[in-house]
Amino acid sequence: SELNLTDFPAGEIPLTPILTDMWGEDRSWTLDAYRAHGGYQGLEKAKTMEPSAVLEAVKNSGLRGRGGAGFPAGLKWSFLPPDDGLPRYLVVNADESEPGTCKDIPQIMANPHALIEGMAICSRAIRCEHAFVYLRGEVAHVYRRLLAAVREATEAGLLGDLKITAHAGAGAYICGEETALLDSLEGRRGHPRLKPPFPAAQGLFARPTVINNVETISQVAGIFKYSDNWYASMGTEKSKGHGIFSISGHVKHPGQFEAPFGITMRQLLSYCGGIRDGHELKFWAVGGSSAPIFTPNELDVPLTYEEVVSAGSMLATRAIQVFDETTSVVRVVSRWVDFYQHESCGKCTPCREGTYWMKQIMHRLEAGKGEEGDVEKLLSITSEIGGRCFCALGDAAITPVTSGIKHFREEFEKGYTTPAWELFPYKRTVVF
Ligand code: NAD
Repeated sequence: SELNLTDFPAGEIPLTPILTDMWGEDRSWTLDAYRAHGGYQGLEKAKTMEPSAVLEAVKNSGLRGRGGAGFPAGLKWSFLPPDDGLPRYLVVNADESEPGTCKDIPQIMANPHALIEGMAICSRAIRCEHAFVYLRGEVAHVYRRLLAAVREATEAGLLGDLKITAHAGAGAYICGEETALLDSLEGRRGHPRLKPPFPAAQGLFARPTVINNVETISQVAGIFKYSDNWYASMGTEKSKGHGIFSISGHVKHPGQFEAPFGITMRQLLSYCGGIRDGHELKFWAVGGSSAPIFTPNELDVPLTYEEVVSAGSMLATRAIQVFDETTSVVRVVSRWVDFYQHESCGKCTPCREGTYWMKQIMHRLEAGKGEEGDVEKLLSITSEIGGRCFCALGDAAITPVTSGIKHFREEFEKGYTTPAWELFPYKRTVVF
């Protein structure tokens, strides 16, 4: 909280602390603090508008979903069938679990009322009277903070007839997949459902449902407090607005940096003080572990949905992880594969079996006990998983392997003879 972003040399694109403006303040999570920052003005404005006009404004703002896929939020809301008088729901996905992603949990901890205000506005647009927040089970402190904020907003009469229920899951990555989340919320084991039907048509309890990420819904408050045109004036034609970039790893000052889309990694690095002293960048993950890794060659790629795809990766949740030359790519990929193997729900065979076999091979490469041809074998397994799974987890699981081999194949092949810990002796140089 002592970190003052303006202390860092400015890149060409300035940071835009809009969601994060009050993160460092004393008791920033209270209604009083939020109101002192103009909180709930957006909701007041939205209440004077027809639901269709609220929806139109969100469409105009160009807001795209911040859970990773970047689907246009207003368009998603507009997919709900006409109101038939029966329940329709808003579900906020707060099951933030992508490796390196760290924006939704801090946002709820520091500024839960932005989320609640956004939920109230969205509920008005889609005519929903009962909204849910599905949280990771492990984060009991976040759950308590959200409950307290919902109580405060309800008792202050800000929510009208809207009821908000916070639900803590049991801590499974797959429950961040929207349909597995719905199963879990309904009280069943979280397994992805076949799409279509999309949740917009048949979601929670088979009723029309909007599911959006915490950051997406929290952004809605600003769109109404300022204006849809103000929001659309930031970023680029296809990636409008601003977002939180979470930066972790071998940088001097890791943290969350809020900036318009189009900022580059080189500029973000200047805000976080650069790579730690005496070291240089080896590779970086731009969108968590599920998007192909980047090397120093991509430092100047504008971080927008479209430009990152053109450069061969995905912006996803902007979970940027930075690795310097002391890092073994094989070890990093091996940890990521462990994660996917552990989190595979087991519903479909390519993901369940494929992640298991990738893990076996990655472990022996890491131990320097790989067999000649293991790299080809890994690639063959990835081709059996990719595009053949029920949900996005399978495709995500193969990405670190394929992109790791693409950029650092020789390091994987060294695993036939030499353990990763001999090639890259692990020294604890960062003191926490
Ligand atoms: P997707 O592209 O299938 O869907 C995106 C959203 O748009 C969904 O809500 C979906 O219901 C909706 N949608 C798409 N087409 C539609 C249509 N024709 N009609 C109605 N609605 C439609 O993506 P996904 O599988 O939901 O998510 C994958 C993304 O999740 C990846 O980009 C990944 O980065 C991200 N991810 C995020 C986290 C995290 O912690 N936030 C974790 C893992 C993965």
